[in-house]
Amino acid sequence: MRPEILFPLFASVASLTGIGPRLAQAIGKMAGSHVADILWHLPTGLIDRRFAPKIGEAIPGAIATITVKVDIHQPPRIPRLPYKVLCSDETGELDLVFFHARQDYLDRILPIGQERIVSGKIEEFQGRLQITHPDHVVERSELETLQTVEPTYRLTAGLTSKPLLRAIRGALERAPDLPEWQDAAWLRKNQWPGWRDALQSVHAPQSEADLAPEAVARRRLAYDELLADQLALSIVRVNQRARPGRCFAPTGELTAKALAALPFFLTPSQETALAEIGADMAAPVRMLRILQGDVGSGKTIVALLAMLQAIEAGSQTALMAPTEVLARQHFATIEPLARGIGLTIAILTGRDKGKARAAVLDGLKSGDIAIVVGTHALFQEEIAFADLGLAVVDEQHRFGVHQRLMLASKGAAADMLVMTATPIPRTLMLCAYSDLDSSRLTDKPAGRQPIDTRALPLSRIEDVVTRLETALAGGARVFWVCPLVDESEVSDLAAATDRHAALEARFPGQVGLIHGQMSGTAKDKAMAAFSAGHTRILVATTVIEVGVDVPEATIMVIEHAERFGLAQLHQLRGRVGRGERASSCLLLYAPPLTETASARIKILRETNDGFRIAEEDLRLRGAGELLGTRQSGLPAFRIADIVQHRDLMLVARDDARLILDRDPGLATPRGQALRVLLYLFEKDAVVQTLRSG
Ligand code: ADP
Ligand code: MG
Repeated sequence: MRPEILFPLFASVASLTGIGPRLAQAIGKMAGSHVADILWHLPTGLIDRRFAPKIGEAIPGAIATITVKVDIHQPPRIPRLPYKVLCSDETGELDLVFFHARQDYLDRILPIGQERIVSGKIEEFQGRLQITHPDHVVERSELETLQTVEPTYRLTAGLTSKPLLRAIRGALERAPDLPEWQDAAWLRKNQWPGWRDALQSVHAPQSEADLAPEAVARRRLAYDELLADQLALSIVRVNQRARPGRCFAPTGELTAKALAALPFFLTPSQETALAEIGADMAAPVRMLRILQGDVGSGKTIVALLAMLQAIEAGSQTALMAPTEVLARQHFATIEPLARGIGLTIAILTGRDKGKARAAVLDGLKSGDIAIVVGTHALFQEEIAFADLGLAVVDEQHRFGVHQRLMLASKGAAADMLVMTATPIPRTLMLCAYSDLDSSRLTDKPAGRQPIDTRALPLSRIEDVVTRLETALAGGARVFWVCPLVDESEVSDLAAATDRHAALEARFPGQVGLIHGQMSGTAKDKAMAAFSAGHTRILVATTVIEVGVDVPEATIMVIEHAERFGLAQLHQLRGRVGRGERASSCLLLYAPPLTETASARIKILRETNDGFRIAEEDLRLRGAGELLGTRQSGLPAFRIADIVQHRDLMLVARDDARLILDRDPGLATPRGQALRVLLYLFEKDAVVQTLRSG
């Protein structure tokens, strides 16, 4: 249960004074619906209102806060013109200019003959000084609150700065004094303020430096967030390891047979990964390991060999893929090998129903089935294994930490191997996957040809199609990926359908189509037709991103490449260049390219090394382009910045482990405070797995 001290922070923003349902909705969309959410909405700029000159010293272009006497109101002669209020002090005259003004309102806030403080940007117009729409008009008593530095925030439709400022002030007043969860010495060393002071201070920047990620108050709050995250991951990790794992004692018989049947030798990094996995499996702890490697680096075979070790030791194994298509493909790859060495293998997805499904369930329960390949359906439903020893999750960046948490909390007692084709930069690896150990496949299987990557403006699409004609005549097979138009699948689909129709008109009977809205069977059919060469061009939305394997495909066309992220483009490109033949990738873009988009294309042309691309991707994101973290599988933080606060991320990881070593139940006073921190960042599910303390 969330501690009571946090209740004010989890109240609705609508409960703040001055925030009605409409504003609450706008704030909700932009920042979130809780009071805490707007506290994490940090200022992006500031307006310094401390400059308070006499009119005679005012500088056009500057923000100034000036004390004036209201002299005359000059309503416009024709409605188009502005309403002017002429003001002065002993050094000169200043006009206040209002468009579409309401006279009664101006009469009220600027009564003739009275003194008022006005603040806004000074302009010079036809030889006179003026302020158009002053930001503030107040009485002398309010001078002190006005003559300060005002933070500015990112806004959204239906939300202007005044009500947002008011909401944030209200939220700050509600922020309780929370028990300190950070180590005292660490706070002193960094000269970090307490939580509440840090919060007040980030919302009251005095200079540009205070807005930077390295400002002390920001770093303190970022560290809080990172520590909460790392602590949550560490708790999961500890929980996992606390359960006794089994010590597999493989005989080596099945793996030897499989290796003999393979038409190739393992690469050195495949050997290393397999040794690491084998050591985990033999040890009396539960394995939680991630196997990273580019598309085509040969993860599947490593996973299969690990599965065989578990089977040799007498248990069953499962391989879970993120999509139906991928599950079927894994099955198609593994089945012949498995059968060849005398194993029973089955597939189980949401689509398998009736008798066939019942037969698989029976086989799993009785232990007759040694390997089952499937989708989420494998773990989510009431499926019982006689003895599941190893679960392989082909993650391909679709499952995040939360899904893993769920899976783990289901209590599957098996060893777990996660495969991902998204190479993750080392520092992020430590952060996003710090609950896992890691193995990397860094070398590509022998015989792979480099992919010739080119970028062309969309206007040259005709040339591309003509080139395809020649290529198809020579037997080539082509992936044509259509852009993500927006978040809506419907418009993605329209783009793909149109492209399919256009290509089909040109190459009748040779063009297939695959997209996310198709039924599973229709997708399989489209894949199978392309795989068998019945269709020669496969037009696709990004569904093909996840691991589709057609070694005969040698050309990848990506339409509107500028709309994809770097990692995504790399993934897509990885669909070709898997066979012995030379491949090419054509990136069609709509000019003009943004700086980041051209940087992405340049990197792709330079390298095919997924780990380097991942680092570059991170760097480009750091340059301000926030590609959806959702897609990339990277964690999304509210305050912390995965690039700017990388150093803190590493400290947080060690800190979290140390904390749990000393106080595994978070029972000490600091532990209790850390529980509050976990709730503050909504890690409720994790706290609940701790022994009550
Ligand atoms: P990933 O799952 O990492 O995308 P796969 O395991 O699907 O890669 O392997 C891609 C292709 O490379 C498959 O056809 C596989 O048989 C082949 N392959 C795997 N390992 C090797 C190797 N060591 N040498 C040659 N080919 C390999
Ligand atoms: Mg694979």
